[in-house]
Amino acid sequence: MNRVIVLILALTVGGCIDTSLPDLTLELGEGRTDGPVCGPETLQGFPPEQLRVTLIDVGQGDGIWIQTPYYENQQLESRNIIIDAGPSGSVPGTSPGGAVIIDYLLTNGLPPGERIDALVISHAHEDHYGGVSALVSMFDVGRYIDPGFTANSSGFLAARSAAEGDVSRAGGLSQVPAIPELATRPFVQTDLFGQYVESDLLWAADKPPSGNVTDPSGTDVNNTSVAFAIRWGGKQVLLLADLEEEVEQILVDADLAGEIDLTSAVMKVAHHGSSSSTSPTFLSLVFPNQSADEWAVISSGRRTFGGVTLPTEETLGNLKRALLPGHVLSTDNRDDLKEPGTEHGDDTIIVTIDADGTVLACYVP
Ligand SMILES: [Zn+2]
Repeated sequence: MNRVIVLILALTVGGCIDTSLPDLTLELGEGRTDGPVCGPETLQGFPPEQLRVTLIDVGQGDGIWIQTPYYENQQLESRNIIIDAGPSGSVPGTSPGGAVIIDYLLTNGLPPGERIDALVISHAHEDHYGGVSALVSMFDVGRYIDPGFTANSSGFLAARSAAEGDVSRAGGLSQVPAIPELATRPFVQTDLFGQYVESDLLWAADKPPSGNVTDPSGTDVNNTSVAFAIRWGGKQVLLLADLEEEVEQILVDADLAGEIDLTSAVMKVAHHGSSSSTSPTFLSLVFPNQSADEWAVISSGRRTFGGVTLPTEETLGNLKRALLPGHVLSTDNRDDLKEPGTEHGDDTIIVTIDADGTVLACYVP
């Protein structure tokens, strides 16, 4: 679309392509997941009565900053919650996600030493826990949550230990395992997102549902992920970490049994847009309407796993069929030409939900 507009403009100006015109396609990207670019009203400060979910572009991994709404006093009422800390960058071909998150928080309103109300590490994979040590050395964490399953990972245990040390110094609370410490069971409300945002713990497991505990596969570990449904302004956001289709099916069954309602305005797509998540059945329950208020957001980088680059064409195709054009955004959007490990920092995504239910997702320019 943008390319067409530029071409028409260029041809109109001089009868041939006028190279003095800015090439908007380069500014906006030609990625597979182009969407709106955030305007100044989104970028300048954090207005009251807004829920904000920022997918910081950590490269391959997750690093999500949630700011909850306030009415009078942001300091007293709003909560800062971080879900996952990105990769550490110490593994070859990965981005320094922890440092990227710290930079983003410092330049967007959180000074060094500020309190992060809660840090959730969704599961024991490096692209989610790698940045924990760096993050907790810069900020004070009030609550720490993980699913409880360690996958025998020494790196994960070190990250948990760093987080719990920081929490204890700040007089905070460690909630491991997430069930029953944070909520007694799946689909039960939590108080994690403050007084105004309703939230359910959708999933967390201290053992993989497959029962494969001693030698867990990546899928087994993914299926222990802490996942949430949060609601504000009558709209729901799903934060699905790296859940795979086995757990999605449990959520589908719970929806069909009336225990939960998956219908949502925003979905943080599970497992970086892998084809082993986001089944068509799950998708049809989450996004039934193809409306302007429905958005999918993906946190992904350029790493390939067994020859597959995430997000997969299959998942993107399914999402694009379910949603309006420009409503599937990914942090890997303009990273096609970048080397693995350098793709971070240029495709951060902000999702805002206002008290009246207005929903917007956009790329930070
Ligand atoms: Zn992951």
